[in-house]
Amino acid sequence: MAETADIVVIGAGIVGCSIAYHLAVRGGARVVVLERDLICSGATGKSGGGIRQLFATELNVRLSLESLRMFQRMPDELGIDPEFRPVGYLFLATTEKELTLFRSQAEFQQRFGIPVRIVSHADMRRLIPYVRLDDILGGVYCPTDGYAAPYEVTMGYASAARRLGVRIHERRRVTGIVRQAGRVGGVETSCGPIHALVVVNAAGPEGGLVGAMAGIDVPVKPYRRQIFTTGPLPEFSNEPPLTIDYHRNWYFRGEQGGCLFSGPKDNESSFNTNVDWEHLAESVAKAVARVPILETAEIKRGWAGSYDISPDNNAILGAVPGLPGFYLATGHSGHGFMHGPATGKLMAEMILTGKTSIDVSPLGLGRFSTGKTVREPMTMHEA
Ligand SMILES: Cc1cc2nc3c(=O)[nH]c(=O)nc-3n(C[C@H](O)[C@H](O)[C@H](O)COP(=O)(O)OP(=O)(O)OC[C@H]3O[C@@H](n4cnc5c(N)ncnc54)[C@H](O)[C@@H]3O)c2cc1C
Repeated sequence: MAETADIVVIGAGIVGCSIAYHLAVRGGARVVVLERDLICSGATGKSGGGIRQLFATELNVRLSLESLRMFQRMPDELGIDPEFRPVGYLFLATTEKELTLFRSQAEFQQRFGIPVRIVSHADMRRLIPYVRLDDILGGVYCPTDGYAAPYEVTMGYASAARRLGVRIHERRRVTGIVRQAGRVGGVETSCGPIHALVVVNAAGPEGGLVGAMAGIDVPVKPYRRQIFTTGPLPEFSNEPPLTIDYHRNWYFRGEQGGCLFSGPKDNESSFNTNVDWEHLAESVAKAVARVPILETAEIKRGWAGSYDISPDNNAILGAVPGLPGFYLATGHSGHGFMHGPATGKLMAEMILTGKTSIDVSPLGLGRFSTGKTVREPMTMHEA
């Protein structure tokens, strides 16, 4: 007898696990999650865990606000500690144009009740006294942003989903998507087929490959991103905000008493997730140029993962036009951890009721053929 389910979710990163959990909370459907490797082994496990509300589009702000509330409720709702640390986010402006953008965005974000403010040199000196600021004109700071623990959060969703009856199969790769009678009919996997009338592509950076299995062009590509961490630094005992050097496309934050900073970014798409140790000296030089105390710091660890980039650097969410039963929740373009909780809730609403409590229709796949893509300037420049 072939296996059956009502809904198959492909991928057990934060997005797939959050979708599965929220489907299970609403009840009534037999949900199966298929993960080719282990839960949280993809981009989510490599994430820096950053969570911010500083976005320029209303939709991204709403996804952040909803997700932030969900992170805060996790101890009660999931029985886990997401290790959320509200250290704040600080964007540094090098040019007048950047500062003007930050000013207008701060006004926009304040309308949602976000306690964001433009900060002066003196403010920044207090927040990050050891950072070189002579070329920085100002910044924008939100004290309620921060970071959390990707593994704990994803496992929290996975465990809660399992308790509610979801089956999560690790080391079971989806190899094909079955089309029958003009709609989705299930999936082929490394351990046999599963019949299901709803299939969700939550494959993160592999979202394009999974889309192709159904004959659908899902424009999500992987780009390698790297992170390095140092040993403890006395200056970091008072933890700094997650600080983004917007002009230079570089960021750092505290990590266990040391510094976590971004490494090189590939401009060519690939699935390469090896750490580029050969260019470590260049990465460190870039870091030392902004944070001179890092010159003597010991590099403890480095890791690399794939960003899940769409053509407009925004997620692709929703039903696929022309293929009933096939849904996309992929291409988060570096924001998938922070938006994962809300994405899961909204996708569950969409699949089970056809309606969502936040209108995510602007993020549908159709925007790439109609040219109605979403512009989001409050983000690091990606691919
Ligand atoms: C270095 C780095 C730093 C980042 N920092 C941040 C940050 O600070 N804040 C933030 O919000 N985001 C950050 N991100 C982005 C974030 O990690 C992703 O947007 C998010 O994790 C995407 O979640 P996901 O569940 O869609 O994808 P994933 O976590 O990649 O999950 C998809 C899963 O699908 C599985 N899969 C793929 N193909 C198949 C198949 N055929 N069959 C079965 N399973 C399959 C994969 O194994 C994987 O486990 C960062 C990413 C990287 C790489």
